[in-house]
Amino acid sequence: MSALPRAAVIATGDELVVGRTLDTNSAAIARRLSAAGYEPASFLVLGDDEDGLAEALQRLARDHDAIVVTGGLGPTLDDVTRHAAARAANVELATDERVLAELQALFATRNRPFLPANARQALFPRGADVLANPHGTAPGFHLLLGRARVFALPGPPREMLPMLEKDVLPRLARRDGVASAQRFVHLFGLPESALAEALGSAMRRDANPLVGVTAKDGVLTVVVRALDASAPAAEERAEAAAREFEARFAEYAFSRTEPDLARVLGAELLARSARVTVAESCTGGLLAGRLTSVPGISAVFERGWIVYANEAKSAELGVEPGMLARHGAVSSEVAAALALGAARKAGARLSLAVTGIAGPGGGTAEKPAALVWFGVALDGGVTTTERRFVVRERELVRAFAVNTALDLGRRALLGSAG
Ligand code: ATP
Ligand code: MG
Repeated sequence: MSALPRAAVIATGDELVVGRTLDTNSAAIARRLSAAGYEPASFLVLGDDEDGLAEALQRLARDHDAIVVTGGLGPTLDDVTRHAAARAANVELATDERVLAELQALFATRNRPFLPANARQALFPRGADVLANPHGTAPGFHLLLGRARVFALPGPPREMLPMLEKDVLPRLARRDGVASAQRFVHLFGLPESALAEALGSAMRRDANPLVGVTAKDGVLTVVVRALDASAPAAEERAEAAAREFEARFAEYAFSRTEPDLARVLGAELLARSARVTVAESCTGGLLAGRLTSVPGISAVFERGWIVYANEAKSAELGVEPGMLARHGAVSSEVAAALALGAARKAGARLSLAVTGIAGPGGGTAEKPAALVWFGVALDGGVTTTERRFVVRERELVRAFAVNTALDLGRRALLGSAG
């Protein structure tokens, strides 16, 4: 199978390079190019610099099949895309009389004077196709340069995106019989390095399917991308590989479609009409926040507790002061008592308790920062789990703790009879 054609994306604008505006265009374009069977191979953010853009276009046109440039099509002197493209293609700029007449008519209907600068927007590199902009004044254009089809689109996303769909993607439609398809497997509880080790040569950059891994707060996502001669064949190849990974890592795989553990647990709870509650110390409400972000969860979530201080643990959920004194708040005993206390008070089938040291301070040799105990009460029984997270930042410890609690709850529910 031949490799995918290569695409480059260039975002232009001084406001982007100094970080005043976030470049969202590049990601949006990359997603669509990737779905269209292109490899988004190169990304560039450039200031409003004609020389820099002309040079980049010439260079990228040598080893890319498509180049999409956004921004720099306005009427002012810092809008340099059309000049840079003409220079890169070694052609002159010429006025498109139709576009000029349309612009003049548009300004007339809006009672705005047509200034010489506005005529700049009717200039295009000779030989380029004009791409109409239904949502703004700056038309785009398309020209051939070296190996590449070059597309210049306006910067504002609401103008750029419709033109990408209508003018760019149809011109880039693949005719060479290579299709790509993507599948995901979401896992929790496995260190990223262990996954990479287990995947081994499957993660080679020239493998087909190509396998990648992304990680967020303990959730690992295996991304499988397959190439084949037709779309159905690519879909089948990707699906088969994803199913194989799912079976191989069955102990950790929790979804093929949903990366959010709260939604996965929420769906399990809703399917069983199983009431859930939480008793949170170090996560301070983040667990309840995640659960209540699930649409429809009010059918099974009524209340939960944030019991940060020892007194609160005792007063609200009946944790014995003697137990707190003997074992400390961050202990298996207290995690169990919190889970059971909350389950009883809320009348819940499933109760998740979290008590730990979020750090960075507050740890001891015996109980270091990032040590967290979890209590999971289900149908009156309770189990506890200790985790020592390798992350150190306070917010990461809390985010890992929330996902761990959600995953423990999910596992408990799946392992139960009802
Ligand atoms: P205009 O006719 O509006 O001047 P233009 O093609 O010259 O169109 P720019 O001046 O480069 O576009 O950008 C206009 C606005 O579009 C920017 O101020 C910014 O808000 C938005 N924009 C530009 N590029 C991007 C980008 N890469 N990602 C997100 N927004 C962008
Ligand atoms: Mg502009």
